[in-house]
Amino acid sequence: MKDLVSLCTRKGFIFQSSGIYGGINGCWDFGPLGVELKRNLKDDWWYTFVQMRDDIVGLDASIITHPEVWVASGHVAEFHDIVVDCKECKHRFRADHLEGPKCPDCGGELTEPKQFNSMLRTRLGVSEDTAVETYLRPETCQSIFVDFKEVYSSSRMQVPFGIAQIGKSFRNEVNPRNFIFRSREFEQMEIEFFCKAEDETKWFEAWKIAIWQWYLDIGLTESKMRWLAHPKEALAHYSSRTEDVEYEFPFGWGELQGLANRGCFDLTQHSKHSGKDLSYFDATTNERYMPSVIEPSAGADRTTLAVLCDAYDEEEVDGEKRIVLRLDPKLSPIKAAILPLVKKDGLAELAQGLELKLRRKFNTFYDQSGAIGRRYRRMDEIGTPFCICVDYESKENGTVTVRDRDSMEQVRMPMDELAAYIGKRCSHERD
Ligand code: ATP
Repeated sequence: MKDLVSLCTRKGFIFQSSGIYGGINGCWDFGPLGVELKRNLKDDWWYTFVQMRDDIVGLDASIITHPEVWVASGHVAEFHDIVVDCKECKHRFRADHLEGPKCPDCGGELTEPKQFNSMLRTRLGVSEDTAVETYLRPETCQSIFVDFKEVYSSSRMQVPFGIAQIGKSFRNEVNPRNFIFRSREFEQMEIEFFCKAEDETKWFEAWKIAIWQWYLDIGLTESKMRWLAHPKEALAHYSSRTEDVEYEFPFGWGELQGLANRGCFDLTQHSKHSGKDLSYFDATTNERYMPSVIEPSAGADRTTLAVLCDAYDEEEVDGEKRIVLRLDPKLSPIKAAILPLVKKDGLAELAQGLELKLRRKFNTFYDQSGAIGRRYRRMDEIGTPFCICVDYESKENGTVTVRDRDSMEQVRMPMDELAAYIGKRCSHERD
């Protein structure tokens, strides 16, 4: 983990937020490479679950909502962590994360457990007396329920169908930790899939398969993944069944995604609290009912971390350590580096011209400084799948070498075939 965190900072994947002010606990900034990686991941999720399916549509709702949303959803009353404080060092811990009866930091005595609501409050409005107190959403899904009727009537979707959303969520986590695994501001990728009550189990099972496949598609190692079913007594207030996909991080197993059967809890609650009927009318059968919901809820940051952990590799090549991020090419921040063998004799100009052409298709990087071996290594470290070397032969016959990051093998090919060759290997298009 230490090596990965150091690589992430050194290379511009992830920085501590507000670093020059000493940082702020639980918040992270994605640097130039991190933003590309996370964006590729979210795009692939959207491609898989929205673009490629005709039974799911998207939504991008506001982060701040009417405060009543969180009363109806049960978050005001129920979204509590049970916490204990250390009487000596005053540190606070989640009771369910403790391994013994003493403070894990100083061994001091702990207080009795108490409830702590982890929603972040904010005030909306310009004048002190009329401003309303509300919350930064702790999950993206509530707006999906609130907008359910507008979405299905405007898009003419019919149950069974789903609504997907990617966006920021906020939780005042008691102990943000393990790098970006547990943060206070993070991104979720959620789908609320609406179906008939009698089809809940069928859809739950179908979603288990779809979710698992996506993790394989983005390159996670299958033996580092597992399903974990929540015991009945540990279920959240809205769920009748929850199973998590967990990943084996260097610090242990951790949840990547929760799959929950929320029944008709949320639509019923919002109907009650808003006074607007959110039931669904099936015109083909003349039935009116409250649909059930199967919810796959994933974290974009946790998935990014899993992808980085899975991809990180060190090996020895010619007596030297090689760090390589074996990212799936469709997730790599930079798809191809264009490197002139030397700067002189017109090779730099030729390589720059090539790079200008290729950058229209995908993210490229031009680098002419240092020995070619060093430049290859720099690209390996950030997961660039292809390095294109422009050499003397390129001037003569328009061919270049293409080096593969993982095998380090090189093939020679005409420059005008590069866009198709690399584009195909870096695309998230599935056959
Ligand atoms: P945990 O038990 O780890 O606190 P949770 O069960 O509360 O997680 P959910 O409410 O099911 O999490 O949220 C769905 C997904 O959102 C999680 O699987 C995770 O990927 C992501 N997520 C939740 N909380 C955080 C957080 N504090 N930081 C980063 N990602 C998070």
